[in-house]
Amino acid sequence: MAVSELPTHARAVIIGGGVIGCSVAYHLVKHGWRDVVLLEQGQLTCGTTWHAAGLVGQLRAHQNMTRLVQYSAKLYAELERETEQATGWKQCGSVLVARTAERVTLFRRVHAAARAQGVACELISPREAGEKYPLMRTDDILGALWLPHDGKVNPADVTQALAKGARMGGARIFERTRVTAIHHKDGVANGVATTRGIIAAEVVINCAGQWAKQVGRMCGVTVPLHAAEHMYVVTGRIADVHPDLPILRDPDGYIYVKEEVGGLLVGGFEPVAKPWGMDGIPENFEFGMLPDDWDQFQILMENALVRLPALERAEIKTFMNGPESFTPDNNFIMGEAPELKNFYVAAGFNSIGIASAGGAGRALAEWIVAGEPSLDLWPVDIRRFAPFHGDDGFLKARVSEVLGLHYKMPWPNRELQSARPLRVSPLYDRLAAQHALFGSKMGWERPNFFAPSAAQARLDYSWARPNWFPHAAAEHAATRTAVTIADLTSFSKFLFQGTDAPILLLRLCANDVALPPGTTVYTALLNARGTYESDLTVARLDAERFLLVTGTAQATRDADWIARHLPPGARATLTDVSEHYAVLAVMGPRARDLLARVTEARLDNVVFPFGAIREIAIAGAALWASRRTYVGELGFELYVPVARAGAVYDALMQAGAALGVRNCGYYAIESLRLEKGYRAWGRELTPDHNPYEAGLAFAVDFDHDFIGRAALLAARDKPPARRLLSLVATAPDTPLAHGGELILRNGEPVGDVTSAAYGHSVGGIVALGYVATGGVPVDASFVSARFEIDIAGTRVPVRASLKAPYDPARRKIKA
Ligand SMILES: Cc1cc2nc3c(=O)[nH]c(=O)nc-3n(C[C@H](O)[C@H](O)[C@H](O)COP(=O)(O)OP(=O)(O)OC[C@H]3O[C@@H](n4cnc5c(N)ncnc54)[C@H](O)[C@@H]3O)c2cc1C
Repeated sequence: MAVSELPTHARAVIIGGGVIGCSVAYHLVKHGWRDVVLLEQGQLTCGTTWHAAGLVGQLRAHQNMTRLVQYSAKLYAELERETEQATGWKQCGSVLVARTAERVTLFRRVHAAARAQGVACELISPREAGEKYPLMRTDDILGALWLPHDGKVNPADVTQALAKGARMGGARIFERTRVTAIHHKDGVANGVATTRGIIAAEVVINCAGQWAKQVGRMCGVTVPLHAAEHMYVVTGRIADVHPDLPILRDPDGYIYVKEEVGGLLVGGFEPVAKPWGMDGIPENFEFGMLPDDWDQFQILMENALVRLPALERAEIKTFMNGPESFTPDNNFIMGEAPELKNFYVAAGFNSIGIASAGGAGRALAEWIVAGEPSLDLWPVDIRRFAPFHGDDGFLKARVSEVLGLHYKMPWPNRELQSARPLRVSPLYDRLAAQHALFGSKMGWERPNFFAPSAAQARLDYSWARPNWFPHAAAEHAATRTAVTIADLTSFSKFLFQGTDAPILLLRLCANDVALPPGTTVYTALLNARGTYESDLTVARLDAERFLLVTGTAQATRDADWIARHLPPGARATLTDVSEHYAVLAVMGPRARDLLARVTEARLDNVVFPFGAIREIAIAGAALWASRRTYVGELGFELYVPVARAGAVYDALMQAGAALGVRNCGYYAIESLRLEKGYRAWGRELTPDHNPYEAGLAFAVDFDHDFIGRAALLAARDKPPARRLLSLVATAPDTPLAHGGELILRNGEPVGDVTSAAYGHSVGGIVALGYVATGGVPVDASFVSARFEIDIAGTRVPVRASLKAPYDPARRKIKA
């Protein structure tokens, strides 16, 4: 066979010869997969990769994302030795400057988070920043950060080096070969059609950059990304500019600056971006550029001139405007598509594709080879999206906002504003009329708090006490002392039913779900490593019918996990009923009194104990009432058919007036659940944690066989490497914690805070966080050590405990 002839079969076919496709190919061959084929419609790098600036900034918001970029930097530094192809890697470090006091607070938080993540990072003064970057004006900056391990590369050279390494390992790369169709059978991808013939394949990997949405649509896979214009200019030579100059980032001015052939490359992330490619991305956009747009670039140029006066006299040699793909949440997309087995995606890199490629390529290759990711990749997991995210109108509106997020202040509880509302509960208008301030999760509008007036229903972002603090405090207090109603309609809900449903569920769940009908149980879904894939509540409605209730963000992920573990021919079906039922949580010591006013059903502990689920009627509507709580009080969650939700809510509010009923939003729920030490999936519970580390071993039943059992048995008798603790700080004038803070034990860094809020019942900060144990048992003496958390540079003493700070004996719940 001539070398240029396409093979008819390959183990893996990769679509796209940008930096991502080449990295996936490189890492697949490192795993011993020889029969790897990469197809590129034009030439390698001709999509977005060739015009990238090449910045490699390592510190990310999520520890595992930082790990990916750290690995990229290491790989780019070493690749030349292996392949004899230079990558242009230079570890020049980066300087970030702050123009505002709020940004300085952020830098202090980032500095502590970097310690928690093991990334070298220094807080430096404006004078020191000026010493590192003498061209910079410093009289208007208030503080700076120095990241010595950041660097830069030549993106085209990195890609060629990865491609060469892949070829050296046996991969074959075919340029000028466009994929025109994805072949699949019975829900499994099995090959591609191309402009040069058909290739059968075991695995197909979509690394088609901004074309990845279109490639996904060839086989019904949602890849929610949209192109936006991204631009920089390059100047001629400027005195004192040399290759060792650090990267400069001035996020308050939206700009980044890099040395380029003795001149400066100035780019940035303007607050309102310009979407591109609304009629689809042209196929023949090889080494394509978009027209100069000085109007769009103006805000960046003005700010660059403020920071670098030398630019006034510099000649602009190049205006580079290229399209890059952005996603609904500014994180990239990877993993096996939930719609099609053996079809993987790595795309939508939001302008950090060069920095991420090494780590992302390795992580995806591991995922492909093992069939599941080897670490928590939830921030970038394709299953965080649902088909509605693929809508072009939604994406266009959203990416206008997303590009600017890179340098926008990452305020606590920051909400995106574009493309909303998308999904609303049947109570939306009623709650809006009561001055609800909504946030958005998985497209759902959810009330965060209720303000006394329309004018007060707003989010004023702050590191200190926010404007909504008193409103959430009132909702918190009402839940603890009277009764509140929270609209939890966004919960993901599934009906799992059929003859085999009970036995299949037992295998999936770590807890004993062989329940009598009318009972609920809290359980983990674990993987073979014994770590969390999900946590959910299982309610047995009757012999062969279960209601599964899980977190708002987990609908796609949990459905995928369950579906892929059903054996062929299983007599059980899973139906997503999230949009069929509203959920009203009636919580607080007067919850039973309130329900008694609107239903004939018996609600006492004999007939309706904690954990029971009963069909009852309210306002003529038949619904399920489940006696469970996420706030630590006596309470009932009502699962109401959407068409009846308004009537049920009205009846409850009317009957509850005399009992002091009020609405409760998600900010109050967050502080209530943290006082109770309740864990949240994605923060405390992830594929990096097992039930022993999470302190949830009580919800594991070893008397039945379940996925992850063997791994958990092996972990059972050893002290866990880290352990989740509740942390409370009640000293007056303590600054607020928001999650991500460094935890110290006896002065030594041991972990970070996963969730934090102000606990109005405990009167201070209430948080959860993992701490390294050093292999010693986590007992009373371990937790009695001196614990502190670092809040933007202030060491705050905290009391650590294994038990919930509020009602550890669970008396309230069982009242
Ligand atoms: C101006 C600018 C500056 C940037 N600066 C940086 C930076 O400093 N640091 C950083 O980390 N990132 C930066 N980026 C982002 C970075 O360039 C991208 O994230 C990255 O290149 C994406 O790589 P990719 O492989 O996903 O996409 P691409 O490079 O676009 O590769 C996808 C390939 O798939 C091919 N393809 C598509 N459809 C098919 C098909 N049907 N059949 C066969 N082949 C197909 C395309 O031809 C293309 O070559 C910048 C981007 C821009 C625009």
